[in-house]
Amino acid sequence: MSEDCIFCKIIAKEIPAERLYSDERVIAFRDNAPAAPVHILIIPNKHIASMREANVEDEALLGHMQLVAQKLAIEEGIDKKGYRLVINVGDDGGQVVYHLHLHLMGGKPLRVQKY
Ligand code: AMP
Repeated sequence: MSEDCIFCKIIAKEIPAERLYSDERVIAFRDNAPAAPVHILIIPNKHIASMREANVEDEALLGHMQLVAQKLAIEEGIDKKGYRLVINVGDDGGQVVYHLHLHLMGGKPLRVQKY
């Protein structure tokens, strides 16, 4: 746990969130400012600030996050039509919360963004 990390506080249940899934390695909850009809964040319980700080020890954890996203996409009924998985990394990547998280977004056609 990292002090002043909002997602660590969600893991510790110090801040409320609409939790959809949890196990010994990750939790998933709805984004509170959804950018799509389905917008869920999958985060590791271990505080990793961003993908820059992930290392080979986290390889299985990173795969697990994606498989949890796949399972949630099925549960949310968006797997057939498709969805987007995104990890923003650092300031230029648009990362705002510095606790690694995987965005699962879907529920409508998502345009390819031009930057
Ligand atoms: P990123 O820009 O990749 O760092 O994404 C951070 C995401 O966290 C944004 O989509 C926010 O809407 C979301 N977020 C921030 N605080 C909360 C919170 N307390 N509960 C749920 N989602 C949050």
